[in-house]
Amino acid sequence: MAYDDDNVFARILRGEIPCKKVYEDDYALAFHDINPLAPVHVLVIPKGRYVSMVDFHRNASDAEIAGLFRAVGRVAEKLGLNESGYRILANNGRDANQEVPHLHIHIFGGAPLGRMLKKIER
Ligand code: AMP
Repeated sequence: MAYDDDNVFARILRGEIPCKKVYEDDYALAFHDINPLAPVHVLVIPKGRYVSMVDFHRNASDAEIAGLFRAVGRVAEKLGLNESGYRILANNGRDANQEVPHLHIHIFGGAPLGRMLKKIER
């Protein structure tokens, strides 16, 4: 899947759409989700043009991969979630219902989140 430069997160990265920024460094930007599903719901995105984890693991540099995951840890720490705990999640592709075609890692926290996933039967 080719990267769409008009996706909403690309536009946030270019400053064309506002966001409630939590953290930024050379590799990543983090901002509050516009439709939070938990008391804390923040998205961490790489600054590079990557559609999903498939694209990212194949094409990102080691520095970009390390930078994104370091940023996730820093954001959770900045949000005060280290002690209470939090969940990270990245939807990739159709079966995961990925809506925005720019890789993003959700951070959920601020309350007990329940089980990891409702069991899916085929
Ligand atoms: P996903 O289903 O993993 O692709 O999640 C996309 C997420 O992006 C959803 O949780 C949306 O609420 C969130 N989202 C969409 N547009 C914006 C925006 N402009 N600012 C912040 N979050 C957004």
